[in-house]
Amino acid sequence: MKRLAPHWQILIALGLATITALVLRGLFGNAPEASSGEKLVSGVIATCGFIGDLFMRALKMIIVPLIVTAVVSGITGLKGVEGFGRLGIKTMVFYLTSSLAAILVGLVLVNLIEPGLNDGKPNTEILAAFEENKAKADPVDIAKVEVASQREGKDFLSIFKAMIPENVVDAASDNGQMLGVIIFSILFAIAVTQLPGHMGNNVRDFFEAANEAMVTVTKWIMAVAPIGVYALILPLIHKTGMDLFGQLGKYFFTVLFGLLIHFTVILPLALRFIGKVSPKAHFMAMRPALLMAFSTASSSATLPVTMRAVHENAGVSKRVSSFTLPLGSTVNMDGTALYECVAVIFVAQVMGIELGFGSQFFIVVAALLTSIGVAGIPSASLVAILLILKNSGIPNAEIAVITLLSVDRLLDMSRTAVNVYSDSCAAVIVARSEGEVFHFDELQEEEFIPEDNFSDDKSSQTE
Ligand code: ASP
Repeated sequence: MKRLAPHWQILIALGLATITALVLRGLFGNAPEASSGEKLVSGVIATCGFIGDLFMRALKMIIVPLIVTAVVSGITGLKGVEGFGRLGIKTMVFYLTSSLAAILVGLVLVNLIEPGLNDGKPNTEILAAFEENKAKADPVDIAKVEVASQREGKDFLSIFKAMIPENVVDAASDNGQMLGVIIFSILFAIAVTQLPGHMGNNVRDFFEAANEAMVTVTKWIMAVAPIGVYALILPLIHKTGMDLFGQLGKYFFTVLFGLLIHFTVILPLALRFIGKVSPKAHFMAMRPALLMAFSTASSSATLPVTMRAVHENAGVSKRVSSFTLPLGSTVNMDGTALYECVAVIFVAQVMGIELGFGSQFFIVVAALLTSIGVAGIPSASLVAILLILKNSGIPNAEIAVITLLSVDRLLDMSRTAVNVYSDSCAAVIVARSEGEVFHFDELQEEEFIPEDNFSDDKSSQTE
C-alpha cells in the first residue's frame, strides 16, 4: 500500500490532536482536578507534553550541526568568493524587500481596521482586559516579560550585537544566537576557499559528507513527525480552547488577514513574476515545511525540513539553498515583521496614543530591523515588541505585552509559517536568477506531485 505523503500525515495529526483536545475539554474542562476521569486527562496531557518536548529537542539537536555543515559546504562549493558576494547581495535584497512589503501590508490594515479603537476612541474594555490579565497571567509569561524588559528594553542595538558572538561555542548553545553561528560559519567557509588546493578540498569534502549525514538524521526525525505534532498540539489546544478570540478578536483578525495577504498575494506575485515559478507548484513543494512551521512555531526548528523541501521537492541546488535558508531562518521574518507593526500600533491605539507619520515611520523601520535580529523560536518577537513600544514612548508596555504573550500561540504558529514560506521563496527566486531550472518547470501545475520526492529515501543529487 502506498504510504500517505508526509504533509497529509502531519495534517491528520494536527486534526486529531485538535479533536481530542476539544473532546477532553468538553468532557472534563481545562483544569483537571481529583476525579479519576480528570486524572486520566492530566495523565494524557503530561504524556503528550513529554513526547512533544522530546520531538522539539530532537529538531533543535540538529540545528547547529545542520547550519554549520550546510553553510560551510554551500559556500566552499561556490566558485570563488565572487559568486558568494553576488548571492549574498541578492538574498539580502529579497529579504529586506519582502519584509518591508509585509510591514506595509500590516501598517495599512491596522490603520484601516483600527483594532484598538472603538468608534474612533481607545477601546477601554481592552485596556481593562490588559490590567485584569496582568493579575491572572501565567507567572512564566510575567517572568519572561520582566527578563526581556530588563535585558533588552533599553538598548536598541543589543539584538545586533549577537551577530558577532564573543564565544562561538556559547552562541551555538543558545537558541537565540544562531545569527552569530551563521556569521562565524560564513567567515570560516570563506577562509577555507582561500586555502591551497588539497587542504581546501579536504575540508570541503568533510563538510559535504557531514551535511549529507545530517540530512539523513533529519529524515529519521521526520519519520516520527506526526506523533511529535500530535503531542505538541494536544496540550496547547486543551489549555487555550477557543477562548482565544474574545475581546482581542479584531486584533487577531487584523494580524491573520495581513499574514494571509502576504502569503497568498505578495509572495506568489514575487514567485510568478520575479522567479518565473508557478506559485501553486511551489506551495505544494513546501507543504511539509509549512505544516512543521505551523506546529512548532519555530523557524529554526523547522530549518531541517525547510532545507529538505526546498532542495528535494522544489529542486533548488544545495549551493543556493544551503546559504539562503539558514540565513533566512533567523534574518528573514516577514510574518514577524508584519506582526510587530500591527501589535505595536494596536497597543498604542488601546493606550490612546496618537502616532503621527514620524512615529509610524519609526515603527516600520524598527520592525524591519528587529525582525532581522529576532531568534527563530516561539514568541521571540515579543521582546522586539517590548523594545519598540518602549522606544516609541508608550507607557506600561509590559502590561500589554503580557496579554499579547498569553494569547500569542496561534498567531505565532501562523507568522512562523509565513516566515518559513518567505525563506523558501527567496531560495527559489535567487536560484532562478542564477539560471537554475526546477523539477516543475516542464510540468503543468496539476502534474506536479512533490511528495514523491520528499518521501523517497534517496538523497537528491541536484546541484
Ligand atoms: N516564532 C517565530 C519564528 O520562529 C518568531 C516570532 O515571531 O516570535 O519564526
